[in-house]
Amino acid sequence: MTRIRAPTERSCTRCGRSERWDDADAQWRVDDEAGDVFCVHAWDVTGTFTPVEQ
Ligand SMILES: [Zn+2]
Repeated sequence: MTRIRAPTERSCTRCGRSERWDDADAQWRVDDEAGDVFCVHAWDVTGTFTPVEQ
């Protein structure tokens, strides 16, 4: 069985912004920390994330 996995959380390694994936709106939403709006965010989804799980 193969299923597609998608990250549901991500955070910026530069400014600390954190976001959650909103299934209803199909877009990222700020979770709690807005971070720096001028930051070119470097997203750290997870270190071990793999898009396809066997
Ligand atoms: Zn950032």
